[in-house]
Amino acid sequence: MTSFYSLNFDDLKSLLAQNGLPEAGAALLYNWHYKKNQRTTLLNQKLSQKSRAFIYSELNFDLPEINFVSQSQDKTVKFLFKLHDGRTVESVLIPFQQKYTLCLSSQVGCGMNCAFCYTGKQGFTRHLATEEIVGQFMQAKQWLTENRPGDDRVLNIVFMGQGEPLHNFDSVKKAVEIFLSQYGLSLACHKITVSTSGYLPGLERWKNEMPNVNVALSLHSPFTEKRNELIPINRKYPLADVVKVIESIPEGEKRFATYEYLMIDGFNDALDDAEATGRLLAGGKAFVNLIPFNPFPGSIYKRPSREKIEAFRDVLEKFNVPVTIRTTKGDEILAACGQLNTRS
Ligand code: SAH
Ligand code: SF4
Repeated sequence: MTSFYSLNFDDLKSLLAQNGLPEAGAALLYNWHYKKNQRTTLLNQKLSQKSRAFIYSELNFDLPEINFVSQSQDKTVKFLFKLHDGRTVESVLIPFQQKYTLCLSSQVGCGMNCAFCYTGKQGFTRHLATEEIVGQFMQAKQWLTENRPGDDRVLNIVFMGQGEPLHNFDSVKKAVEIFLSQYGLSLACHKITVSTSGYLPGLERWKNEMPNVNVALSLHSPFTEKRNELIPINRKYPLADVVKVIESIPEGEKRFATYEYLMIDGFNDALDDAEATGRLLAGGKAFVNLIPFNPFPGSIYKRPSREKIEAFRDVLEKFNVPVTIRTTKGDEILAACGQLNTRS
């Protein structure tokens, strides 16, 4: 059986058409499941008997199961999802005023082996299917509706959970198309951000294939040696090539590129690191997000002091590069950036 949540709108329309059914059923199904968030298979009388029979026999509406929910003082929620094969992944709802950003996973584990990342320590198990990515959203949204009524708006989606999203390009792209579809969730392009460690083959495809969503690059150092140490794929896909491709992605009205800079005490937080980063990004349309390192069991790095982070920011501002310092949320439940790990 095909998962309904694996089909973008055009896939669903063609599937119905190939089976001699009216294409209008696609809009009804999308509306019912995504806009109205209904879980039961369509009880909608507008669908013909024949269409309903086809849907019941050919499509499944299974979603990943919520296995465990952790909630922190600051209202961050971490979900542990159990997938059909017993593997697990996590997603995190990060509160912002009365709304949430949902941080999604794209793989079970990750093969990029970054030195500072708890997920990287887990290794790569498998890619997530589109329905497992969309399913994290559907379940998190439903949980909010049931548990925090009136406070259940998911404003942004970020692909910053477990996995390297561009290593799983096809499934991530299709999930993005589903999130954007005007017949369903209707999210705006600028509400979705896909973060990458610099996986060049995925970025090359992005130029022509990805809808116009935001890209974030995990920069972490402008220096080859240091970046090699932190992000091993930098040896294969050097930063200069990665930045060139990001800059060549056509800029839509709302899309913007963010450079994430993980700050590690005594490693990449000195003023000359800041100067070199400023030189690399000055004059472009870059926007920098400074992320203080989040520790995890067994990690060897430390977070710099607030003063050092602010001094780094001040240098970037001299280069007229807009900077924000990310506030850490959910670290008491290991839900902050880089703290997700579901090795079982
Ligand atoms: N694989 C993608 C997206 C997931 S990681 C990527 O690497 O970009 C999301 C962000 O969390 C990345 O910027 C990553 O570098 C950062 N991160 C990883 N481990 C971290 C840690 N221990 N502390 C803070 N940020 C971390
Ligand atoms: Fe993978 Fe991103 Fe972690 Fe690197 S930082 S190991 S790419 S999840």
